[in-house]
Amino acid sequence: MSHMAAVGDLEIRVDVAEVRRWLGYRCGRPPRPRVAHRLDELWPEALALLHPRGAFRVVEGAGAAASGMPRPTPLVGVGVCTVGSALETESRRRGDASALLDALLLDAVGSAAAEAAADALNQRLCVAARAHDCFAGTRVSPGYGRWDLGGQAALVDLLPAARLGIRLTSALMLVPHKSVSFAVRFESRPPREDLRRHRCRRCGLADCPYRDVPGGEAAS
Ligand code: SF4
Repeated sequence: MSHMAAVGDLEIRVDVAEVRRWLGYRCGRPPRPRVAHRLDELWPEALALLHPRGAFRVVEGAGAAASGMPRPTPLVGVGVCTVGSALETESRRRGDASALLDALLLDAVGSAAAEAAADALNQRLCVAARAHDCFAGTRVSPGYGRWDLGGQAALVDLLPAARLGIRLTSALMLVPHKSVSFAVRFESRPPREDLRRHRCRRCGLADCPYRDVPGGEAAS
């Protein structure tokens, strides 16, 4: 039972704390004033250069297994998303012009935005899992943990990546670079209630019919 892929724009909210984390400022450590000030200045321009889009699909576990996904369930949700190439092109342009701080900051915004896009797409798969009487597991990607990067091509082949302007290099890297491919297991057993409620509380999909707790922090 494989479904048609759904393709579309994604609504994302880029969290400045995530951007700081990509810059190396972890655990709430504040950036240097010059960095914080320049990030504030660049913020509107950076967000305007984002074009988040994604595609997802429900496939049989055998299809996901062919991409090397570890421990696929009978049904698996697969997705690929991107924030487009405009931001990374501008980051590269500024780097070439020796505006290295700008290049670094734009790159960090792009990385945080790509993760936000993957989270937004993951929410769609969470809903799809519930519609199949299953529960979406944790998002996993080729090249991380036990999933060899060699499975990237087979995973992307399951999705209409070209319609999103995404292609693979010979080294199996996604282009635009601020793109993410992933899969989620459709588990038959729910996660622990406290984890489920925590996830829903943080989830920004306001109109989800399967929300376990009211509200949501719009943290997509
Ligand atoms: S509100 Fe809860 S069930 Fe709905 S998509 Fe978000 S995490 Fe999943």
